[in-house]
Formats: sequence, structure tokens, C-alpha cells
Amino acid sequence: MSLADDARERLAQLKRDGLLRAPPTVSTAQGPVVTIDGHALLCLCSNNYLGFADDPAIIAGMQRSLERDGAGAGASRLISGTMSVHRDAERTLAALVQLPSALLFTSGYAANVGALQALFGDGDFIFSDALNHASLIDGCRLSRASINVYPHGDLEALERRLRARPRGARAVIVTESVFSMDGDLADLVALRALADAYDAALFVDEAHALGVFGPGGAGLSAALGVVPDVLVGTLGKAFGGAGAFVAGDASVIALIENRARSYVFSTAPAPALAAAAVAAAALVQRADERRATLLRHAQRLRTALRALGYEVLHGESPIVPVLLGEPARAVAIAGALREHGCFVQAIRPPTVPRGTSRLRVVPMATHSDAQIERAIEAFATVRSALKEHA
Ligand SMILES: *Cc1c(COP(=O)(O)O)cnc(C)c1O
Repeated sequence: MSLADDARERLAQLKRDGLLRAPPTVSTAQGPVVTIDGHALLCLCSNNYLGFADDPAIIAGMQRSLERDGAGAGASRLISGTMSVHRDAERTLAALVQLPSALLFTSGYAANVGALQALFGDGDFIFSDALNHASLIDGCRLSRASINVYPHGDLEALERRLRARPRGARAVIVTESVFSMDGDLADLVALRALADAYDAALFVDEAHALGVFGPGGAGLSAALGVVPDVLVGTLGKAFGGAGAFVAGDASVIALIENRARSYVFSTAPAPALAAAAVAAAALVQRADERRATLLRHAQRLRTALRALGYEVLHGESPIVPVLLGEPARAVAIAGALREHGCFVQAIRPPTVPRGTSRLRVVPMATHSDAQIERAIEAFATVRSALKEHA
């Protein structure tokens, strides 16, 4: 069978399973309202939490950089691609998360894969939360360390496993701070204590907490007074741009700079993206009001959708997961919401476990109260239509 025939067959199987993905195309900038197929829709599934993806100050910073630094870095960082704007961004981001040193990556995926592979290897032990992001899972696998997946948030199980590990072996606990699909928070204080008690390092992915929690948006670790050994922050979510960074002790960062294959063997981020990070960092630090609005919108959605009879996971983050079970059901409800002016995506396996397909509803700080109420009305309409059919 030709590769193309084989691919067609596998796509057909994905379709039969309700797992075929075909994303809609957004034809406007990423604001609180986006245009899809000529229709203006409330955007309720973006990680552009603070509304900075179309911020004029960030765009201006990128434009100045384009004129000064040009379009591309031309080479990897270790050859000729390291530019002053990359170093500016790294100093700014390290200061923001209150850690000594930081290193830019082209994406959070590249940062997680690279940092884990750089720091851990054969003979080491990685303790990884069961709900960790695919990039953390792939980084663990790539490292060739021994991987121990503990049940989500189960500190007792984690402690048993830490205790059972061979003495003297290098070890690390890997976790997200805000879990991307459930929206719950890791107990970072307890994880730090366990790491210290069992001579392990603590690796925290702050993708969904950076800009959202902590003083000046420094993340959940900073909010709780926890110092991780490695902190990963992404620039494509609350920062509104693209890219990521790894922060920590200067020697840890220098080792990553020398060993992370996704860093060493990849062209440096476009200088304008580093400039966007610098501009966004200044805005993020002053965004207390936006953070408060974002969390208030999320709380309102959680309460109202639950009152309508939806199964909404508990949480304190901007992520409001509405559990629907089978993929087809999640897709149908997302489609119905689209007809009522709301853009929400169905999240299906392999992103979430089987039987837990869901809508991941996420407001933005730049939504108005009236827009959030309009979203709730759409959920109410769709819900009563569902009941009529049942
Ligand atoms: C989005 C995400 C990443 C990947 O970041 P990108 O910059 O989008 O590649 C990593 N970790 C978590 C927890 C994420 O949600």
C-alpha cells in the first residue's frame, strides 16, 4: 500500500472515532472577538489570557525591532544567532520570575523537551505528574532517564516512589503549576518540601500561570514563595507572542545552553519575537487589573455554567473545563455554540483521557462583562436544545 493510501485509511479511522481535527481559520487579529468564515464570534478558547496578542505597545516594540534587528537571526544561538535583543529578553524574563538566569527557546514544546533532555539521562529518575503536558512527557522520554508517572496530584504516591528510588541517583519532580486541561493548581509548596526531603530537583512548567498568577504575573511559584530548580515559562499564552524560556540557577541554565538539542540545533528565535517578550513583560508586570478581571470572568462562567447543569471542574484558574464525555458530544456542543456566536473548541483524546472529552472554556481579560453574559446565554440555549432532543 502506498503511503498516501495508508494515510487516507488512517484518517478515515480517526474520522470514525470522532477524532479527526480540522481547525477553523481565524481571519482577524486574536482579540476577544474573532472572525471565522465571515462570522464575528466571542473567542472563548484562546490562551491569550490577558489580551496582549493584539496589543499596540507590543506590536510597536516588534516593529522597532524589525527595523533595527531585521527579520531573522540567521543561525542558531551558539553560532551567530545570539543578538542583544535575545539577551535583553533573557535578563528581563529572569527578573520577572525572580530567578538568576533565563534562556529563550522557540517554543514551550522545544523548551521542555530540550531542558529535560539536557539535564537528565540514563540512570536518573524522573517523577512526572500523570496529567503533564505532551512536551514534558516527550522530554522525559527523550532524556532516557527512568520515568515514574505518579497519579495526578497524589503526593503520598509520589513520596512512596521517591523513597523507593536508589540512593544517590539524580532525581527530579516534574509538574505543571496550572494544569492545562483541568485548570487545577499543583501544590507547589508540598512538592518543594518533598523534593528537598528526598534530594530531588523541582521542575515546574508555568505555561498557564505566567502572567496570570503571582506578583507582577511572576507565576504560581512566586505567588507561593516557592523557588523551583527549573522554571519554564511560555511567551505564546499570557504574553501574547511566541516562544518560551527556561529559568533557574546560572549553572543550570548554562548547562542547558550547552546540551539542549532543541536549542543547540535550531535557528534562534526571530529578534522581533524577543522584542515582543521584552515589551510584553513590561505590560504583564503592570496587569493586576487584567488578572483580576480574567479570574472574575472565569469564576462567573464556572458558577453560571454549573447552575445551567453542565459538569464543570472545580478550580481557581482561568481555565473552565466543561466535561462532556464522548468526542462526538463535545464536537456537537461546540458546533451548536458556534451557531450562537461563541468560539469554543472540543478537546478530545489524546489531549485528554478517553471518556473525558470536554470544552475548555477560557475567557480573556479583555472580554466585557456583557460579552461573558452573552456567552452564558449561548450555553443556556444550547443546553435547552439538548434536553429537547434527549
Ligand atoms: C502550551 C504548553 C506548552 C507548549 O508551549 P508552546 O510555546 O505553545 O510550544 C508547554 N507546556 C504546557 C503546560 C503548555 O500548556
